[in-house]
Amino acid sequence: MKEFDLIIIGAGRASNLAAKAGKLGLKVALIEKSSLGGTCPNRGCVPSKLLIGYANKIREIKESKTHFIKSKIEHIDIEKIFKETNKYIDSIDENYQKKFNENVIIFRGEGKFIANKIVEVNNEKLTAPTIIIATGTRPAKVPYEKAWSSDNIFPLKDKIPNSITIVGAGFIACELTNFFDAIGIKTKQLVRSNTLLSNEDEEISSIFKEEYCKNIDVEFETNIKEVKYQNEKFYITLEKNDGTIKEHISEALLYATGRVSNADKLGLENTDIELNKKGFIKRDEFFQTKVKGVYVVGDASGEHMLQHAAAYEINHLSKILFENEKEPLKFKYMPHAVFSFPEIASVGLTEQKAKELNINYITTTTNWLASAKALSLKIKYPRTKFILNPKTYEILGCHLIGFESATMIHQVLAIMHINNDIRHLKEMLYIHPALSEALLPAAVEAVAKIQEYKKSHKK
Ligand SMILES: Cc1cc2nc3c(=O)[nH]c(=O)nc-3n(C[C@H](O)[C@H](O)[C@H](O)COP(=O)(O)OP(=O)(O)OC[C@H]3O[C@@H](n4cnc5c(N)ncnc54)[C@H](O)[C@@H]3O)c2cc1C
Repeated sequence: MKEFDLIIIGAGRASNLAAKAGKLGLKVALIEKSSLGGTCPNRGCVPSKLLIGYANKIREIKESKTHFIKSKIEHIDIEKIFKETNKYIDSIDENYQKKFNENVIIFRGEGKFIANKIVEVNNEKLTAPTIIIATGTRPAKVPYEKAWSSDNIFPLKDKIPNSITIVGAGFIACELTNFFDAIGIKTKQLVRSNTLLSNEDEEISSIFKEEYCKNIDVEFETNIKEVKYQNEKFYITLEKNDGTIKEHISEALLYATGRVSNADKLGLENTDIELNKKGFIKRDEFFQTKVKGVYVVGDASGEHMLQHAAAYEINHLSKILFENEKEPLKFKYMPHAVFSFPEIASVGLTEQKAKELNINYITTTTNWLASAKALSLKIKYPRTKFILNPKTYEILGCHLIGFESATMIHQVLAIMHINNDIRHLKEMLYIHPALSEALLPAAVEAVAKIQEYKKSHKK
């Protein structure tokens, strides 16, 4: 049995913790069955956003007529787009290896628990007083042979298709569909319900739907009844909720219908570690599983499934382990963005969640057109929606749709993080006429509505 100070299973975001522990002089075993770096740089956030960069440029050119510019795209070198993205992915493992000093031993293989504190990898048994499970998730199994999940395009090893059908209505589906459509591949999106991005605030997702569907061919209320793969094509029979049958042919079929826990392959039946109903590993507020000294962080907990959440958690776990941190991490506001067209950014409660929780709230929705910079973009749909506590001025939720929403939301996040009071957003200084200034009228409206509420509730 090989003894270590720390074992980490999964070299995604937890690679950083392995590197830090190594620098502190700890003997670390880092177990990874695929490429170092994990989902985000290899087959997630980064390569998908590299693709979105191409889509955004193309959309801008296509929409240039709004600025009285007549333009025509002569050629899109799709092969080069994928070649560049694949090249980026190819560099990740090697770059991650450089993070670690000689104290970090990398085991290339699948780690499995054979007892509470013993992990087996490649027939070797390892033990340590502290073990971190950071095994992330994988795409849900695709129901047809030859169909793809997002893993098949990062890197894209198959032939670039001339047409693609994408199943799903979440953020991965909407980001990838926008990309394939923008670069000129014949694209269709299949959605079971009548909504896209159902986790977003309904007011925002309905604006998204209206704008998105101006470019994208989405078949709502549709299920796949049958699929046949012949002569390198998918022959898909679609069934609408009203019973209508439609035939559709596509060279590629990609499922972006969710991700599942990797805990089923960890041999947890040999331990006292418990899973929740969805198959994710249970933990306490210090990230500890039912086994003392065994922690779970990042997507493996099934809580946030975002890279910045994993990074935040792993940073805090590092403080708990190496800096005597005694407080749990307070994750009151977890932001996220959808980098599609249009872009969305969101933090905190949606209006439907506030209703469900039966809390006292008010909302304001303000357009961005008071900002000259926003006006210069010549798009009318951008909105800021606030969900507010009318008694305390606390921002309970903020939802943006529009150009650079993911950047714009950071000033709201800063206020929510430091001293959550919408009045700070009203009183702060904005550079005129920066795009961020679009948040000022939203804050003014929100504060006025709260003051009105306070007046009417005094009586
Ligand atoms: C297409 C796509 C786009 C995304 N876009 C964004 C985005 O824009 N913003 C954002 O915040 N998030 C995004 N995400 C989510 C983000 O990638 C994840 O939240 C993040 O990677 C989680 O990090 P992690 O370290 O917890 O897990 P991972 O990065 O998944 O790392 C887990 C590692 O564990 C390894 N592993 C699993 N089981 C074992 C085992 N038994 N033995 C050894 N190794 C094992 C895996 O191979 C993997 O390398 C996206 C995801 C996808 C798929």
